[in-house]
Amino acid sequence: MHETDLTKALILTVKDWWEAQPQKPKIEALHLVIGHFTCVEPVGLQFAFEVQTRGTFLDGVKLQIEEIPLIAFCHPCEREYRPEIGLKYSCPECGSPMEDIRSGRELKIDRIEYSFLTQETPQETVSYASNL
Ligand SMILES: [Zn+2]
Repeated sequence: MHETDLTKALILTVKDWWEAQPQKPKIEALHLVIGHFTCVEPVGLQFAFEVQTRGTFLDGVKLQIEEIPLIAFCHPCEREYRPEIGLKYSCPECGSPMEDIRSGRELKIDRIEYSFLTQETPQETVSYASNL
C-alpha cells in the first residue's frame, strides 16, 4: 500500500530530525504538502499515520495536509490547464499531450511545529524526498 510506505518514510524522516535535536522538543503538528498527481489519499495517509505512530514519540501529533492541484502548462496554447487525473491529461484546447507539470507532484513536509516547555513554538522546514 502506497500510503503505508509513505507514512513509514515520513516517520523516519521526522525521527531523524527529532533525534538530531539536542532538546528533544515536543512535536505538535506536521504540515504536509501533497500534490494531487502523487495519487496519495490524504484520508489514507491520516489513517496510516495514526496507526503507525501509536505508542511512539509521534503519538497524537496532528497531521495537517495541504493538497495542491495538478496544473499543467500547454506550450502551443501558452496556457495552464487542469488535467483530469486518471481520465485525460492532454490539453483541452489543442489536445497536446501533457509534458510540462507546474504543480501537483509535491510530496513534502512543509513545516514541523514543535514546542519546548518554556518557549513559544518555533517552526522548521524539513525536506521529505519523494521517490515516486
Ligand atoms: Zn493546448
